[in-house]
Amino acid sequence: MFDSLVDFVRQQFDQSNSIGLHEPRFGERDRQALIEVIDSGMVSSVGQCVDEFEQLIASYAGAAHGIATVNGTSALHVSLLVAGVIPGDLVLTQSLSFVATCNAISYCGAEPVFIDVDRQSLGLAPAALQEFLESQTELRDDGCCWHIETNRRIPVCMPMHTFGFPASIHQIAQLCLAHGLQLVEDSAEALGSWHTGVHCGVAGNLGVLSFNGNKIMTTGGGGMVLTNDAELAKRVRHLTTTARVTEPLKWLHDEVGFNYRLPNLNAALGIAQFASLEHALMCKRKLANNYLQWSHENDRDMIAEQPGTQANHWLNALICNSVEERDQLLEYTCRQGVLSRPVWVPMHRLSMYEHCLHGTLENTQWAAAHILNLPSSVPHGW
Ligand SMILES: *Cc1c(COP(=O)(O)O)cnc(C)c1O
Repeated sequence: MFDSLVDFVRQQFDQSNSIGLHEPRFGERDRQALIEVIDSGMVSSVGQCVDEFEQLIASYAGAAHGIATVNGTSALHVSLLVAGVIPGDLVLTQSLSFVATCNAISYCGAEPVFIDVDRQSLGLAPAALQEFLESQTELRDDGCCWHIETNRRIPVCMPMHTFGFPASIHQIAQLCLAHGLQLVEDSAEALGSWHTGVHCGVAGNLGVLSFNGNKIMTTGGGGMVLTNDAELAKRVRHLTTTARVTEPLKWLHDEVGFNYRLPNLNAALGIAQFASLEHALMCKRKLANNYLQWSHENDRDMIAEQPGTQANHWLNALICNSVEERDQLLEYTCRQGVLSRPVWVPMHRLSMYEHCLHGTLENTQWAAAHILNLPSSVPHGW
């Protein structure tokens, strides 16, 4: 099976040298866009390209507003702030995620509570969320959800769409509504992923995208907050542009804000990258189908797109039989120049988050031990 996998990957990517996990794709259009914006002199924050980029992405995702930021992490931070997260609060999220999800919670002075994921999507499991909410929290007269034992407020639930596979977001949204929680989606990996026609990041109050170099399209570094709420959008815009009040002939700031807005230079690259997003999505779907076929021929399973959803297939994920096999396969493929990667060490295992509250994390542990991500770039020439 090990040899068969390496051969299969080499066939897809048609490369004799090392094959990365996820590489950005650039063409003449990207180069041209950068030259134009350099020649214009408008390289820094807030320019025409930023407005255009925001409109392109928001309208693609079906969100009323998009606010571009310097990266996905800053977009998460400011989303939690405008959702009203304050020091001492708790935020429900998953342990199976990239560390930025939890760090954004920490920046607000709040703490994550880890809820299990489901094995099909690797997203927050509605059943585990429901169990936690019903057994450990109550909706009080202030309209907020409170953790009974610690007497701490829980203003937000923040699920993540793992590897671009949509979580069961409509069930999660219903639970949030019933229990007085705001829904902030970490959709950093999920541009181009949909759940029953709703783009990831648009099912709740706020959603976040990332345009880091390893994501499905890139602005070098970049992120975006999506929302349908005009008031929240205004708050995000204000806070991310150093809380500047635009009054004629005045240079005035009315609170402690952040320099979180995406520079025009990066936005120009984003516009160019977006032009080939559909093509990239098509190629990634084809690659995922090829992986799936390979896995069936080799008596294996992959994490697969769930009924009613459309995944962007950002990272393909093989399910290994055991942690030993996963580690052997990881070592073997990397030695052969096929750069596979294990899933993140779960957040409840990191020193800064190991003390945090959590439910049973059976599926999180399972995923942490069995999943291996396989090279998932758009192959050259496709
Ligand atoms: C990439 C990513 C982010 C944030 O990314 P930036 O590198 O800050 O743009 C946040 N959460 C998840 C799950 C991610 O994969």
